Amino acid sequence: MPESGPNSLSEFDLIARYFSPPATQGVVGVGDDCGILPVRPGFQLAVSTDTLIEGRHFFAGTDPAAIGHKALAVNLSDLAAVGAQPRACLLSLSLPQVDEPWLQAFSQGFLDLSKANDCQLIGGDTTRSHDKIMLGVTVLGEVPVSQALLRSRAQPDDDIWVTGTLGAPYTALQLHQGAWSADETVRTQAMERLLWPRPPVHWAPQLLGYAHAAIDISDGLTQDLQHILQGSQFGARINAADIPQHEVLAQLSSQQQLEALLSGGDEFELCFTAPAQHRAPILDSAAKAGVAVKRIGTITLEPELQIYDFEGQLLRALPTGYDHFDRS
Ligand code: ADP
Ligand code: MG
Repeated sequence: MPESGPNSLSEFDLIARYFSPPATQGVVGVGDDCGILPVRPGFQLAVSTDTLIEGRHFFAGTDPAAIGHKALAVNLSDLAAVGAQPRACLLSLSLPQVDEPWLQAFSQGFLDLSKANDCQLIGGDTTRSHDKIMLGVTVLGEVPVSQALLRSRAQPDDDIWVTGTLGAPYTALQLHQGAWSADETVRTQAMERLLWPRPPVHWAPQLLGYAHAAIDISDGLTQDLQHILQGSQFGARINAADIPQHEVLAQLSSQQQLEALLSGGDEFELCFTAPAQHRAPILDSAAKAGVAVKRIGTITLEPELQIYDFEGQLLRALPTGYDHFDRS
């Protein structure tokens, strides 16, 4: 239990003040030993969890509302990747001290997104950490029995699609670290995209019946697409020129653009595969939902990933994505 001084909030007051949204009917929310949730007949539960650590997943001093938003957004992105509809979430908070303005903004960022996606906070845990903020979020969603979009279900000749525009989160990190330079407007825009990811959660369940496989882009398009290829035991051919670029990339060199598009993580957009006969309904439902979608390549029988650069030349070495245990 976090404490910061004689007048500090107790653990239970803290939970009651910041993390006790009203439960909807039929749901047992925060305050009992378990959250309890009805599951509709014909549906399965989809469950996922992700951890965010200060200094690793977000910079110390980041706007706490953005941290709250992102902690839930990265988890909702996993539900979107299997085509599940969000139902509920759990939040484990480890804090070095009780900082009420921080908690106020953090819980607001978290609960606003939770409300916008009907993903009710139904429980969690609150502990004191040594010196860093650590957040664990678990999400629960519903998906019709046997219809989830799995990494293993891609088929040869499937189109490969991505949602949104890519490259901005990676650009934000390069600019922040001083490796790249750009003007202030670009920095602000790129940072906004890194801090406030908006995965296409509302639309993803509409892919069921049209898409075969999907993954959310968290570690970089190349690396994440390779997970689909390994899971499905096929290969792919993609064209860098077809990958939709975020507008901040316009100011970068083509080498930087390529790097940001192919190896940039933190996108929280979807990469999915679908047979060509489903192009029209996919475009149509995405347009109605206000989600940008673009075809970037094809699944091949030959189990190899071939990436063509902006000039149509085959890349000889594939870029790598993010790996927490990479020692290089
Ligand atoms: P227990 O000791 O039974 O694990 P706790 O005292 O840890 O219960 O928590 C009391 C209630 O508050 C439980 O319903 C728990 O799920 C909820 N809770 C604790 N921390 C959080 C949090 N950070 N966000 C949401 N709910 C929380
Ligand atoms: Mg507990």
